[in-house]
Amino acid sequence: MAFFKNIYGHDRIARSLRQSIANNRLSHALIFDGEEGIGKTTMANALAQTLQCERRMINPGREDMSGTDISYDANTPNIDPTMINADTLDACGHCVSCRAFQNNNHPDVIHVRAEKKSIGIDDVREQINRQTQSKPYRYRYKIFIIHRADTMTVQAQNAILKTLEEPPSFAIFILLSENINAFLPTLISRCVVFRFKPLPVPLVKEYLVDHGMEDERADFYSIFSQGNIGGALKLSQSETFLEMRETVIGMAQSLRRSDLPEAFARFATLDAFKDNIQGLLDLFLLWYRDVIIVKQTDNNYLLIQKDKASEIYAEAQATALEVLCAKFDAVWQAKRHLMQNGNFQLSLEMMLLKMRGYS
Ligand SMILES: [Zn+2]
Repeated sequence: MAFFKNIYGHDRIARSLRQSIANNRLSHALIFDGEEGIGKTTMANALAQTLQCERRMINPGREDMSGTDISYDANTPNIDPTMINADTLDACGHCVSCRAFQNNNHPDVIHVRAEKKSIGIDDVREQINRQTQSKPYRYRYKIFIIHRADTMTVQAQNAILKTLEEPPSFAIFILLSENINAFLPTLISRCVVFRFKPLPVPLVKEYLVDHGMEDERADFYSIFSQGNIGGALKLSQSETFLEMRETVIGMAQSLRRSDLPEAFARFATLDAFKDNIQGLLDLFLLWYRDVIIVKQTDNNYLLIQKDKASEIYAEAQATALEVLCAKFDAVWQAKRHLMQNGNFQLSLEMMLLKMRGYS
């Protein structure tokens, strides 16, 4: 359900959007930028549903208080704006608009997605520019939620730019992006940009627990999520991730025992996880992080992978602290190298050689 009140974190962004709605000063073009799973779509949905809601709530939660009329007609606001508590502004969830939204068939909320790998000029012309020439079917706004807008080609961006320069009063564009650098500066200058940052780990955990995950699992996945609720959910449902975790732990353990050819042979199996190499390296980092913590504190209170405590203790006992730190560094360097589009094979081989050198 797309309500502001159900969103975990991103408080400043939510407050700013709610205030803009309350004051009727929302920009026509918004960019929500941040990594996959961080909460951009959830926020865009809450925004769209609230904008289109026919009886917006000003103070949800006080619904039952006698004599307090807490909803107002969004189409003909007859309420003093200073009376609106923007921090509680939300969609009502019950009106025709809200119900249509929840059934994914709202006529005036248009989701634009790339048909292929990128959004091309024809997509923009057909799904956006042509649509802005006619008024909304029924509601106050026509809202375009453009998924992965950062995949728009230069021609597509130029095509939407013309519309953004002179938008019809009813049009709102929400551009969801994972890489703001992909936009033309002229396009960015037409938009209000909201950057979605990772959430505090305890908040991700709170979300997971509130949605039914048991405490210890929530601990692990929230810490591993790097502040990303969508990422945590995806990991928790991924069998590949569990398999990858076992592989990494097995490999880290064997690295200090095996000879170089054997280590290389083992590394070849990592190829299976090539699509999620950053996740794989994060697991290596997490492993050494846990071992180092145990080495330094001799306490498992701070362990993230509590279910692997005995393996972690064994490695901590067998390896010197500076060796562990050097291995951690070797993984970190491989990670950085790959982020800068370094070669997969070379980066991992270098990592392996460095790690072996320290054993
Ligand atoms: Zn409503």
